[in-house]
Amino acid sequence: SSNLFSVVDQPRYRPVGRVPAQIGNRRKRIVVTGGAGFVGSHLVDKLIARGDDVIGIDNFFTGRRGNVVHHFGNPRFELIRHDVVDPILLEVDEIYHLACPASPVHYKYNPIKTIISFVLSRIFLLEYCRSPFSIPCSKMIPYPLLDYLWIENLDIRLYKTNVMGTLNMLGLAKRIGARFLLTSTSDVYGDPLEHPQKETYWGHVNPIGVRSCYDEGKRTAETLTMDYHRGAGVEVRIARIFNTYGPRMCLDDGRVVSNFVAQAIRKQPLTVYGDGLQTRSFQYVSDLVDGLVALMEGEHVGPFNLGNPGEFTMLELAEVVKETIDPSARIEFKSNTEDDPHKRKPDITKAKELLNWEPKISLREGLPRMVSDFRSRMLNEDEGKGL
Ligand code: NAD
Ligand code: UDP
Ligand code: UDP
Repeated sequence: SSNLFSVVDQPRYRPVGRVPAQIGNRRKRIVVTGGAGFVGSHLVDKLIARGDDVIGIDNFFTGRRGNVVHHFGNPRFELIRHDVVDPILLEVDEIYHLACPASPVHYKYNPIKTIISFVLSRIFLLEYCRSPFSIPCSKMIPYPLLDYLWIENLDIRLYKTNVMGTLNMLGLAKRIGARFLLTSTSDVYGDPLEHPQKETYWGHVNPIGVRSCYDEGKRTAETLTMDYHRGAGVEVRIARIFNTYGPRMCLDDGRVVSNFVAQAIRKQPLTVYGDGLQTRSFQYVSDLVDGLVALMEGEHVGPFNLGNPGEFTMLELAEVVKETIDPSARIEFKSNTEDDPHKRKPDITKAKELLNWEPKISLREGLPRMVSDFRSRMLNEDEGKGL
């Protein structure tokens, strides 16, 4: 009958197997793993604003519901608490795979020290739970430890996230024919012997150092991504992200920009590690998010460097933070961490040519934009609302 025909003519369900990411003008269904994190939440904002359906996946290891709370109640947004180390079944067109703690304090701890800190923190926490005084936990336990109270062997956990998490997301992409984007890192270049770094550089990484769970984890994630591309025909994209800053970064997460900004606001000395002459290139988060979307939608697999080529020593960064927040701020030198890369600066020629992308916001423009966010969150924390 004609009824039957109309059903056949207009299939309401997606065909099984590989389908193009964009089907006509239908809005896309997109997964963002790590969607409650710093970069992930800004990406979610952009995708929702342009009208896509977005599913955020996060285990809240370093991310916060607060980062996406403004989308709660929006039927086009869903947030799933899930650890990407475990498999998941979904039906989507695109997967932005960001899940992975990006701050060094989350992976640089000496494992023995970590375990001791865990034991101490647990005692503190128990004391706090028993205590009749309502002292915010963050006053008693160093903030980064709060997130890790129950997680031992952090480095192994991080490596698992990079390897098993990426494998699962690639398995998902393969099954449903979705396009997959990996957020890799400039850390795949290690302590680089080539400067600035081009995508063709293979890197200089210590495979057994304290940073390797992150550096080698991401290198393996890149390998898996290319193997699924070549072996299983998955459409993939790889971004190598350079240091990124902006609103919603974890307070006190140990990264240099968040440390300096928080210290300057609190009137504490800015802690410069080593001689402060090591360099980094700092990118504002909205530039990165534009780059990620351009990469996902472009025709090129990558890898692509996404970073701001402006290069600063840590002493120069401290000066910009002083100019922006408090010219009277002092600098305090501390010993540097192990395997700290001496310099980092992206060569972004490839992204400029093939993605028509380049960052727009300089450090001096971007920093003030994160200061008001930091000030208000720190005020909330001081009032005990930051827990
Ligand atoms: P972030 O820590 O704020 O965000 C990571 C998010 O992933 C958090 O919300 C966290 O809870 C979640 N997560 C971690 N492990 C998970 C797991 N096993 N399952 C589910 N969720 C998990 O960090 P970010 O700065 O937003 O970084 C996002 C991505 O960009 C990461 O992959 C990071 O490696 C990459 N990157 C960031 C930078 C940077 O400077 N911010 C630089 C290079 C690469
Ligand atoms: N996977 C997943 N969701 C899916 C499909 C696969 O989480 O929809 C996981 C799956 O559990 C496996 C991984 O992705 O651990 C790799 O999947 P693949 O099919 O490539 O490998 P296999 O399952 O054959 O080992
Ligand atoms: N750093 C610093 N003071 C801090 C935190 C970091 O001088 O309070 C230095 C750190 O030694 C490194 C640089 O800043 O040389 C960038 O460190 P971050 O952890 O932000 O990023 P990554 O090392 O991963 O590039």
